[in-house]
Amino acid sequence: MKLHILGCGDAFGSGGRNQSGYLVEATDRLFLLDCGPTTLLAMKRAGFDPRRLDAIILSHLHGDHFGGIPFFFIEYLYQRPRDYPLTIAGPPGTEPRVRQLYATMYGAGGNPAAELPPVDFVVLTPEQRQNVAGVDVFAFRVPHQTHDVSLGIKVAYQSKHILFSGDSAWTDVFIEHAEGVDLFLCECSFFNEQPGMHVNYRALEANLARLRCKQLVLTHLGEDMLAHKHALSMTLAEDGMIIEI
Ligand SMILES: [Zn+2]
Ligand SMILES: [Zn+2]
Repeated sequence: MKLHILGCGDAFGSGGRNQSGYLVEATDRLFLLDCGPTTLLAMKRAGFDPRRLDAIILSHLHGDHFGGIPFFFIEYLYQRPRDYPLTIAGPPGTEPRVRQLYATMYGAGGNPAAELPPVDFVVLTPEQRQNVAGVDVFAFRVPHQTHDVSLGIKVAYQSKHILFSGDSAWTDVFIEHAEGVDLFLCECSFFNEQPGMHVNYRALEANLARLRCKQLVLTHLGEDMLAHKHALSMTLAEDGMIIEI
């Protein structure tokens, strides 16, 4: 299995990096973890036909994580029609929010009932294992938003396990879920502790010995992190990076 980093920047595109998008390539599955606005172009740049995509799995409904979906819709409606439905899985509220966003960007008169390409929506229920287009998904709540649900996501396919933090403040829940995973893709927006619900490098450093994952890669990198880039001992994601799992 391979994970292609399509976008490892934060919401501000810090350092000129794309917004969140991680493409998981397995023998007979291709799926995205998050779909920021820059994801379709980054997927094409990486040489993938967007029709091959089986599923988009969303951690939460912030624009830098799901704002790229309408571009996939118009691709499938007007450029390259799909042969089978795309599965979109995300926290409660995903379907209306995606429909609303698409209607705002391309729908007739902003009508949320505007035609979509064939899509199967799946609500990810925290603390439950679910099958999403043949991929084993376990989502759990993380502290990032006050009212809406933000999820950390663990995916398993053909005995390989990836843990993705989504956006979140540091939480010891990651220790439990990182146990034995092949890759922990952890957001790290800041170097020093800052207000806002995001992980900072200092918190990760303090907990590093407790994390028993096989690989740790930091992503969702903000300006503060990038300014310290050359002095860090942990692996930072780069757009275009391919991680063997
Ligand atoms: Zn974000
Ligand atoms: Zn967010």
